[in-house]
Amino acid sequence: MPLTRLLPSREGEDLIEMITRFASAELAPRVAEAEENAIFPRDVFRKLGELGVLSLPHDAEYGGGELPDEVALQVVEELARTWASVGVGVTVHWASVHPLWKWGSDEQRKRWLPELISGDLLGGFCLSEPEAGSDPGAMKTTATWEGDEYVINGLKAWITHGGEADFYTVMARTSDDGSHGISCFLVPGNAPGLSADPPERKMGLNGSRTSQVRFDNVRVSADRRIADEGRGLAMALDALDTGRLCIAAVSTGIAQAALDHAAEYARTREQFGRPIIDFQGVSFLLADMSARTSAARALYLEAARRKDRGVPFTRLAAEAKLVASDTAMAVTTDAVQVYGGAGYTRDYQVERLMREAKIMQIFEGTNQIQRHVIGRDYR
Ligand SMILES: Cc1cc2nc3c(=O)[nH]c(=O)nc-3n(C[C@H](O)[C@H](O)[C@H](O)COP(=O)(O)OP(=O)(O)OC[C@H]3O[C@@H](n4cnc5c(N)ncnc54)[C@H](O)[C@@H]3O)c2cc1C
Repeated sequence: MPLTRLLPSREGEDLIEMITRFASAELAPRVAEAEENAIFPRDVFRKLGELGVLSLPHDAEYGGGELPDEVALQVVEELARTWASVGVGVTVHWASVHPLWKWGSDEQRKRWLPELISGDLLGGFCLSEPEAGSDPGAMKTTATWEGDEYVINGLKAWITHGGEADFYTVMARTSDDGSHGISCFLVPGNAPGLSADPPERKMGLNGSRTSQVRFDNVRVSADRRIADEGRGLAMALDALDTGRLCIAAVSTGIAQAALDHAAEYARTREQFGRPIIDFQGVSFLLADMSARTSAARALYLEAARRKDRGVPFTRLAAEAKLVASDTAMAVTTDAVQVYGGAGYTRDYQVERLMREAKIMQIFEGTNQIQRHVIGRDYR
């Protein structure tokens, strides 16, 4: 059953159609090998840049597509349906641009934003540290004012595109004032003193490079600080609100892919002289997978529409991330079940989808942290 989407405009419909064609022609043939061998597809992001995907949400005056999140997130879902690492990469790039786009001065935006969203460059978002994951306010990386520059020292952990990014948006401590002592800097990827460790050896999402990034006396000029000193963590958390919607969209794409594969397999695999989809035990499993995937999509789209209308959406974004990532985990696990023994081998995609689903429950704030965000709203 092909997925039909309700888009708010003809422009949105055309875009999704183009992305779906691009994904099946250019991504589908490469995903299995790249994920198996941990190959980072830098050229795919250049191509997505040419197609305007890396600048979809941003203002037209800087060269962006100025598309509502309701559409942009469905593009992410479509990409992730074929290749989760690519969907994640696009959203990490958006997160890296977010503080400059939202809080940069007019001068900073005019100077850097067009280049950062031109499609040639790819960003990284440096918040987490080895001892500061769920609690980023505990970060130790410092940005010390020396002469007329900031000097950044510290270690950032788990950085998507670490060692591949052309620029990093970096949160670093400019004072000891707890979560109010963190500031945000735009750092070129080739800045002297900046280096990346070898990629982490992960359970899945291996086409997405994840590395520690080291800052050893990295000097940045004052005009590369975004907004006032002390506002860094608030800006990072705001970027995470949107980031959670993105991960909800990626999760929904993974769940949809698992459902599509499982339904196809159930229609063709025969036991007891008939296709296994004829057994209610299997078709009910598929029905639950379908219902959960649709619910995840409905929830992230509701949050996106609120965001597009300027209505608060923090709680709904956390709910969407929680529900969609748990859905991806459950639906991919059930897809492996539908495949039986074949599902447990690397010959079919469903086991990879199951490994990819797991990280969705962990990054962009673990699902325990999402519950804190949701629960806070009811205090
Ligand atoms: C593949 C990958 C890509 C990533 N990309 C990026 C990136 O680009 N940029 C970036 O900055 N970070 C990135 N991260 C980091 C990611 O956001 C963190 O891993 C995540 O926030 C959790 O932090 P942690 O791993 O230190 O776990 P911890 O914070 O140590 O948590 C360990 C466990 O304790 C639980 N826990 C912690 N505190 C609480 C609490 N108060 N209540 C209940 N339970 C709690 C957690 O839910 C978890 O189950 C990435 C991580 C991975 C694995």
